[in-house]
Amino acid sequence: MSKILVIGGGLMGSAAAWKLAQRGADVTLVEQQDENYLYGSSYGSARIARSLGPKKDVFSYLFNQTLKEVRQLIDFLNTNDYGDRHAMEDIYSTSPVSYLFHRDQWPVVDRLRFKRQKRDFRIGSSRSSFRKFGMTIPKDTLLVREQREYSGTMQPMELIRKLHLGITQKGSQIKYQSRVDRLVKNDDGRFAGTITHLANGKSKALKFDQVVVASGAYAVDVLQDFAPYLHRVLTPKKVVLSFYRIKQSRYDRMTPAEKKAMLDAQPYFSQIGKEYFSMIEKPADNDDASPLFKAGGHQLRRNIRDLSRVWTEKPRKKDRKWTKKQFRKHFDMLEIYLKKKDIETVETYNCVYTETRNHVPLVTHLFNKHGALDRDIVLIGGMSGIGAKGCLAYGTIGADLLLGKEGKAKKMYRKTVKALGNPSIRLHTRRIKRGRLF
Ligand SMILES: Cc1cc2nc3c(=O)[nH]c(=O)nc-3n(C[C@H](O)[C@H](O)[C@H](O)COP(=O)(O)OP(=O)(O)OC[C@H]3O[C@@H](n4cnc5c(N)ncnc54)[C@H](O)[C@@H]3O)c2cc1C
Repeated sequence: MSKILVIGGGLMGSAAAWKLAQRGADVTLVEQQDENYLYGSSYGSARIARSLGPKKDVFSYLFNQTLKEVRQLIDFLNTNDYGDRHAMEDIYSTSPVSYLFHRDQWPVVDRLRFKRQKRDFRIGSSRSSFRKFGMTIPKDTLLVREQREYSGTMQPMELIRKLHLGITQKGSQIKYQSRVDRLVKNDDGRFAGTITHLANGKSKALKFDQVVVASGAYAVDVLQDFAPYLHRVLTPKKVVLSFYRIKQSRYDRMTPAEKKAMLDAQPYFSQIGKEYFSMIEKPADNDDASPLFKAGGHQLRRNIRDLSRVWTEKPRKKDRKWTKKQFRKHFDMLEIYLKKKDIETVETYNCVYTETRNHVPLVTHLFNKHGALDRDIVLIGGMSGIGAKGCLAYGTIGADLLLGKEGKAKKMYRKTVKALGNPSIRLHTRRIKRGRLF
């Protein structure tokens, strides 16, 4: 049986390792952090989970497939783990998801109105939005609200915990606090990597037959010897996140109807301008206290100078101010008027993700440094701000590619595999000669 190395224990690496282990492969998942996951794109307690998309949309497909895969994982854990009971609700909180569009984006909204989706979402204009959703939206905008089972928010950390349980119960291993440096492929056709145990600094050279690279923002570093062109394809970006609570004195003055409207309006995603988003990071312990909100802007992403320092760097004042302003604006739409002093900033930090130039993630075999496609390696990366909701489907596709099982699949699956494939690598690296890169 071939020995498979999976580099990175965030959502993507964990999903791929689980899928490989489920299919009986001999997997070693290596993660540089310890079990207590503290940074990485998957860090945090909430991500927007939504299935809304145009007909035959790849991202809606990825989300729906992920729900199926998560159900399978939960069933597996419930039949094998005699301790905890596991449930979909540990990971997903169902709630309405609201999107704000500019009127010029009507063609985008219109594409969402096909038969199968009609009953699950409603559209409000600036005239009808207050009546329908209790939100007064600016002129020339449209509010779309999706309401489906398991659309709302998902908890990445809890999903990672369950995936790791599944991986170990299937007999595969996870090495925490271990970093893979400089992956290379030897003449014997096997991959060699140095694995350093970060707690004691000891390094070991290990050999594997196949590899999945899911090391998020660090993929370019990990693959600098094997695929030195990758910096042209993947770019790590930092995104500012702010965490707020409404101060108790102000929260006490909110009516029950206002509190309900506030909860119904989260998660919220404005597709206009800098793409503001907010969601509930942690619900309050009781009805008398404010939940913890997370807010940010996807188009506020900035380049990273030093990946090792970015997690501890203080985010720019300008970006923090912008986020708070948008947070208040969102509440204004609910006719809940907050002064600056009513909002407590609990925390603010840079989060990191990687982007591809066409914003479509990659799940693909890689070209080696000589330009030949290597089918024993798969990259799952460039997930930007959209990966979490489809993570198990990305992992499954990665596992299928590595095991050579993607051939006999259905049309939508094939369309998705193609969309996540390597043409963008070809496009953004030099020239292509007789089917080869370079
Ligand atoms: C601010 C922000 C908001 C987002 N919002 C949403 C949202 O609302 N909805 C949604 O669906 N998605 C969202 N996403 C996207 C989603 O969170 C990411 O796509 C997903 O978490 C990416 O997971 P990953 O496994 O690729 O990367 P990571 O989680 O970064 O995992 C990579 C892992 O590899 C490890 N690693 C790196 N190098 C090495 C090495 N050499 N050896 C060993 N281990 C290594 C790292 O420690 C890390 O744990 C958001 C992302 C961000 C940053």
